Amino acid sequence: MTFTPFGFTTVPHIHVEWGGAGRLGQTLAGRFAARSALLVTDAGLVRAGLIDPVRASLEQAGFQVTLFDDVVADPPESVVLDCTAAARAQGADIVIGLGGGSSLDIAKLIAVTAGSAQDLASMYGVGNVTGTRLPLALIPTTAGTGSEVTNISIITTGETTKMGVVSPQLYGDFVLLDAALTVGLPRIHTAATGIDAMVHAIEAYTSKFRKNPISDMLAREALRLLSANLLPACRDGHNRAARENMLLGALFAGQAFANAPVAAVHALAYPLGGHYHLPHGLTNALMLGPVLRYNARIAAPLYAELADVVGAPGTGDIHARAAVFVTHMMTLMNESGAPRRLRDVKVADNSLAMLARDAMKQTRLLVNNPVEITEEDALALYREAF
Ligand SMILES: [Zn+2]
Repeated sequence: MTFTPFGFTTVPHIHVEWGGAGRLGQTLAGRFAARSALLVTDAGLVRAGLIDPVRASLEQAGFQVTLFDDVVADPPESVVLDCTAAARAQGADIVIGLGGGSSLDIAKLIAVTAGSAQDLASMYGVGNVTGTRLPLALIPTTAGTGSEVTNISIITTGETTKMGVVSPQLYGDFVLLDAALTVGLPRIHTAATGIDAMVHAIEAYTSKFRKNPISDMLAREALRLLSANLLPACRDGHNRAARENMLLGALFAGQAFANAPVAAVHALAYPLGGHYHLPHGLTNALMLGPVLRYNARIAAPLYAELADVVGAPGTGDIHARAAVFVTHMMTLMNESGAPRRLRDVKVADNSLAMLARDAMKQTRLLVNNPVEITEEDALALYREAF
């Protein structure tokens, strides 16, 4: 077999340790000269008691810590500006993101903006960030977004539009996977974020232009781990093995789609998040079934391979196996307890045309889909999901 030229990028260091967040200070002190840390998180994690031990560990290791806990879901530009101001006022020389995808996305961007005069508006899009960034450590508390290993930050601009900053500067220096941080995640969030991670793996595996042998390997292993551990993690949040496997699976999926970008499921999910403020993972779960069935006309050979990866039983030709894969994924989602129809989450049927129009703006994602999607197709997919 010969190779189409490809590149692969990921973060330089990943540390996996159950309970490792409690020793974060020691770990980072040995790796970085920096001692003035901006800790970026959300107020819910502070209330849940997850942040105090981390902060104590950092201070014990000689870090001066400023806490920024104003990150919210679908963070608007004002959060970026406030957090940048906090970093500058403190003179932060390292940024630590600890939380869900939103906190990590903000931390990644602040590591750039804190020391840069570049206007945020000029950073949106692919490869538009100029300059360098502060040292950056990332610690996820959900097994979902994979943000800890991607070079993407998603920001909500205006009322409802989500924009991405995609740039190599957004890869962190250090990632800690401490699955003990995910134990308190309620079932519905465990399901939604886990499904998001599975969508990352599937969309990376069928990504039209930049999939490659490394992203494929990561996507397969991600999907194997995630599909086997989603329901155990949903049923018993304290199942350590399930939590650890989910977190590693989400990281693998993140590494895969950072290099082989996601496609139509995400393109159709973003308008739902923007207009209805639904969690990202949930919106992906709602659109996955229709998009898989739509894409199968071209992607069946790859879906057939994924049927083997998830251990879906049976035999048959490529189309039969692809259908088995889609059914297997639908069953997993049903059993996870995630809402399954747009109407279940109060999406109005008279908004579907507007959603389809908005989805067409996600050209960055739609180009990666194995099958072309027109506005008319998008509307049909929303109808199917309704
Ligand atoms: Zn996603």
